[in-house]
Amino acid sequence: MFGRLFANVSQRVPSLLERVSQIMKPQVVFVLGGPGAGKGTQCSKIVESYNYTHLSAGDLLRAERAREGSEDRHVIETCIKEGKIVPVDITINLLRKAMEETMQQDEKKFRFLIDGFPRNEDNLQGWTRVMDGKADVKFVLFFDCGNEVCINRCIERGKSSGRIDDNWESLEKRIQTYLQSTRPIIELYEKHGKVRTIDASRSVDEVFADVKAVLDKEG
Ligand code: UDP
Ligand code: MG
Repeated sequence: MFGRLFANVSQRVPSLLERVSQIMKPQVVFVLGGPGAGKGTQCSKIVESYNYTHLSAGDLLRAERAREGSEDRHVIETCIKEGKIVPVDITINLLRKAMEETMQQDEKKFRFLIDGFPRNEDNLQGWTRVMDGKADVKFVLFFDCGNEVCINRCIERGKSSGRIDDNWESLEKRIQTYLQSTRPIIELYEKHGKVRTIDASRSVDEVFADVKAVLDKEG
């Protein structure tokens, strides 16, 4: 769906208006992969060298859960602990607000890494409903990593992360949710030729070398 939009634009010289609206329109890379695949770590490294703003859906939800007066605290808390996916209305509003605030502060910051979203069909529908035509999804950066490695990394992270979901009980559920709900979303984008797969089971620097190769080629 997004590919078609690009194809039309690139076949001829775009008008000034098209070029301006293209510049201003948020350019999005979805960053997906299992829990502990290294999405957050790699996004932090990307931000150091490339002109992207990193928005972690999970971090936004955790901040909203901690926000005094938030009506969604309870549902967010329960979903995170149970490895379930928060209803998209909550997540998409947080993402939209974060994107708007970033672009309001600096209009040149229109390139976003959206980390840990969309995680299921509901997320994807919410994104399409709210953002279709307003943002371009360039591609999905997929950190591919075996479940065992993912679990071990999260257990290790749990020793210091303070996260309520970096424990065996939550992790089992998170892996299930990932396999049942998120993998089909990645496969959907794959069908549209939109997935850039990185072997994420290696060291941070080895993985980042591959990430760089993708970004240097496609921005
Ligand atoms: N989550 C969600 N929707 C999102 C992103 C995260 O519901 O779009 C919830 C979900 O319960 C998930 C948890 O937040 O298990 C932690 O997500 P995060 O991306 O921080 O975990 P990671 O995959 O990076 O380990
Ligand atoms: Mg993360």
